[in-house]
Amino acid sequence: MTRRILILYTGGTIGMVPSEQGYVPAAGFEGRLRQHIGHHLASAHQPLPDFAVQELDTLIDSANVQPDDWRTIASTLHQNWHQYDGFVVLHGTDTMAYSASMLSFMLQGLDKPVVFTGSQIPLEQPRTDALSNLTTSLMLAARDDLFEVVLYFDGKLLRGNRSSKRHSIGFGAFGSPNFPALGEVGIYFDLRNELLLPAGQPGAVIPHFNTSDVAIQPVYPGLQANVLEAVLSTNPKGLVLQSYGVGNPPDGNTELMSLLEQASRQGIVVINLSQCQQGPVIQGAYATGSMLNTIGVVSGSDLTLEAAFTKLHWLLAQGLSPEQVRHQLPQPVRGECSGNTRPA
Ligand code: ASP
Repeated sequence: MTRRILILYTGGTIGMVPSEQGYVPAAGFEGRLRQHIGHHLASAHQPLPDFAVQELDTLIDSANVQPDDWRTIASTLHQNWHQYDGFVVLHGTDTMAYSASMLSFMLQGLDKPVVFTGSQIPLEQPRTDALSNLTTSLMLAARDDLFEVVLYFDGKLLRGNRSSKRHSIGFGAFGSPNFPALGEVGIYFDLRNELLLPAGQPGAVIPHFNTSDVAIQPVYPGLQANVLEAVLSTNPKGLVLQSYGVGNPPDGNTELMSLLEQASRQGIVVINLSQCQQGPVIQGAYATGSMLNTIGVVSGSDLTLEAAFTKLHWLLAQGLSPEQVRHQLPQPVRGECSGNTRPA
């Protein structure tokens, strides 16, 4: 039976057109796409699945994505869930890893694929990578063995909540720093079945977000307490701390450390991530990091920044207590982390 896919176009380079200020999003993607791939649809040896295209009312450069946009994307997929066999979300590359991560949490268990993709060069420009990313994503979305939010780009199939944008101009824009690719696509589709999540019960959790609930604070040589103070004055309920190496903050700055302790005591959930491009946090492997264990800072395991930030947002938006959020943050929900399994 022919499978039917919904393509949701949210904006991003893939559908952009040139303007005097540089590329801008443009409406009418379906007509432009069909014009481009019409002959593939008519005479293909390997036909593409049937598809419909919906586009959001406000198309964005994904640099402008807001937590509310995640609600819009999730609700659109949720409303159309039973009408289609799979979904392709066309999204700008800048924040695609954030949105794919968040969607994996919001949509929970899946019984069909959700594939995020986009391109580095717009559909209608020479040398575009849009067609190969989009047509391959359509085929991935039509599979009956994918039950998760994935990101497909330039021959690589990645778990959405493990992905991260790693190249600003290369076609291979995405990596999965702490988890292997789920598959490679060349002439053939080569998926690693042992890594794929099993089918789940659809049960979306799509809460309302408070934009200022989560903040991010990187540490750097010379970071002063008043910088963190300014961040905390925006009243976040959660803070992603990006420390060094295996999770080491500058503990010599006692003012900074007592501010963190105070924040944590007052119910702000702090999660500690590494600034390294790869590898987990092992909080307490060094004395510099061990203090964080005593003040209730959650060790971020091998979560990407995108997955940690969105998971924290998603848990807080459900009105859970700080203790509940601290407990749930390091536990894998949709394969986003390995958990804190390594002793310090
Ligand atoms: N600025 C664009 C966006 O994220 C980049 C892209 O799509 O590749 O929407």
